[in-house]
Amino acid sequence: MPERAVAILPPGATIGILGGGQLGRMLALAAARLGFRTHIYCPDPSSPAFQVSNRRTEAAYDDESALIRFAKSVDVVTYEFENVPADTGGLLMRHVTVEPEPRILDITQDRYTEKSFVRAKGLNVADFEPVSSPEEIAGAARRLSYPCVLKTRRMGYDGKGQERIADPSRIEAAWASIGARPAILESFVAFDREISVIVARGRDGALQCFDIPENRHENHILRTSTVPARISSLAAAQARDMGASLAEAFRYVGVMAVEMFVTGGERLLVNEIAPRVHNSGHWTEDACYLSQFDLHIRAVAGWPLPAPIRHSDVEMTNLLGEDASRSLELAHEPASVLHLYGKEEARPGRKMGHLNRLKPMSGR
Ligand code: AMP
Repeated sequence: MPERAVAILPPGATIGILGGGQLGRMLALAAARLGFRTHIYCPDPSSPAFQVSNRRTEAAYDDESALIRFAKSVDVVTYEFENVPADTGGLLMRHVTVEPEPRILDITQDRYTEKSFVRAKGLNVADFEPVSSPEEIAGAARRLSYPCVLKTRRMGYDGKGQERIADPSRIEAAWASIGARPAILESFVAFDREISVIVARGRDGALQCFDIPENRHENHILRTSTVPARISSLAAAQARDMGASLAEAFRYVGVMAVEMFVTGGERLLVNEIAPRVHNSGHWTEDACYLSQFDLHIRAVAGWPLPAPIRHSDVEMTNLLGEDASRSLELAHEPASVLHLYGKEEARPGRKMGHLNRLKPMSGR
């Protein structure tokens, strides 16, 4: 099947971005570097991306007339979050090119269809079963064995809608705690480490992968991403191949992330796909010549995607909640780049910024 022939956007063209969080903000900054304009669409008046964009629409994701006006004011639409409602994507597509295509979201918005898709592509995932009652959980848990993890099919992120079940006595409480909603039950993976693949695919089908970060979570929220990851070059190449094969299977245009577990013997299991730029790729802003945001903007604008060469080792640390009050102290660090998202309120666990600590390449 030929790739879609879409005009290459010239500098001065406008990129529409659905969602106004920090990812939208960093996409807008990368777009500005190439002379593109941005128009952010987000219902939240205090969106961090509004501060750095040319135009804003403050409206709900189901406001049809606002969506049509937005679509007509931009040359392409992309998004910074994966829970864009299906109807919103469908409506926009009737008026403007949307990249990556919203049909991909139909698969990734539901953990069951997502994991089934990954497994059907021949990639490893933890064993899982769909469940929608405590009785079904009990049956699935007998087959998968304890401990296992219950996850809502939809709208789960940063560990929200997720409960570990150690034994049968915990089933009812776990079911209640995820809101008694359709879910999957998954084997608990005793992983050695977590990694992710950040992959970019262009409109012409060109594929590029960044080096692999090793990700450490605290309370299910990403705390640090360190590059290089402590994995063999063989495992790193295998991870990149897995990420690239998923991007190819989706005929994806833009940057996406694939989170993986590394278990004993360096077996790789796909945990989750994020069809967007990703927190575990924020280190690319300062340790590579082109960042994940640069590559995403280039991909959706039809521009070339050169290899994303890394020039430094790096550890990215998320600044959560009150961490941001240490900003001036952190700004003293040499060889570190501080990024703050311009959010006013530092609620506990809220992503306020990140710090990229750079080191000379170790050559791993
Ligand atoms: P998720 O919401 O699926 O991205 O999960 C968030 C985090 O929970 C992951 O990054 C892991 O640290 C942990 N986790 C998720 N699923 C499992 C599992 N099946 N076994 C062990 N840990 C898990």
